[in-house]
Amino acid sequence: MLTIGCHLSIAKGFAAAARDAASIGANTFQFFTRNPRGGKAKPLDAADLETFAQVCAEEHIESILAHAPYTLNPSSDKAQTREFALMTLADDLERMEHIWPGQLYNMHPGSHVGQGAEAAIQMIADALNSVLKPEQTTTLLLETMAGKGSEVGRTFEEIRAIIDCVELSDHVGVCLDTCHVWDGGYDIVTNLDGVLQQFDEIIGIDRLRAVHLNDSKNPLSAHKDRHEKIGQGHIGFEALASVVNHLTLRDLPFYLETPHDELSGYADEIRRLRMT
Ligand code: FE
Ligand code: FE
Ligand code: ZN
Repeated sequence: MLTIGCHLSIAKGFAAAARDAASIGANTFQFFTRNPRGGKAKPLDAADLETFAQVCAEEHIESILAHAPYTLNPSSDKAQTREFALMTLADDLERMEHIWPGQLYNMHPGSHVGQGAEAAIQMIADALNSVLKPEQTTTLLLETMAGKGSEVGRTFEEIRAIIDCVELSDHVGVCLDTCHVWDGGYDIVTNLDGVLQQFDEIIGIDRLRAVHLNDSKNPLSAHKDRHEKIGQGHIGFEALASVVNHLTLRDLPFYLETPHDELSGYADEIRRLRMT
């Protein structure tokens, strides 16, 4: 059975988010650990987490993926921004051990803001080397990026270069975002096998732990990062159905980050993808 869900709010707690997931036919979900623009995380509520574990067991929610704030930039040229990234990563990873051990935590690698990709790659790896702990059970994922602005992680080579500099790289994996790789220049519409082969040769397919399933408002290599509803963009339903059914990918968890105002929009996408 396909493991699929979408991005959900945890504003009403984890148990409520798990019920939302179940209500739309999801068996996993993604959430922001805190305000996506940064700031302090809400303290964890032990009673909510206990109910959350029960709801997940009852509703067959198999896994969760946390997402770091997208303003996080461990390769900033400002010491204060780098410091915030370190504090947030360390705090989030610690919280994950309480929320649900053994799950996934995704981050955008960073932006080099004019310092060059090479310097940024080292700064991102340095940050990971300072926050990853041998005893942690959470796997940290680096997300493949569209290459907007000075984003690092558009190419598989850049992701590989970061991982190569991480000491505890057993705790590091990759989250492939279909909109981002498409915008970044990887043609998953006409050459999915070829793209996955490149991923395997450069990063190693066993590093791939999750997929963000999004259509794109823009054509191949646009470097824009504008998500579209499944089947309404330049990637298209057929290509995204091939992604979830691909032998190499189909056992991974898939997360919709498509633009919907109502949960019913996600329910519909999940239902259609499960039918393929
Ligand atoms: Fe993301
Ligand atoms: Fe994404
Ligand atoms: Zn995106």
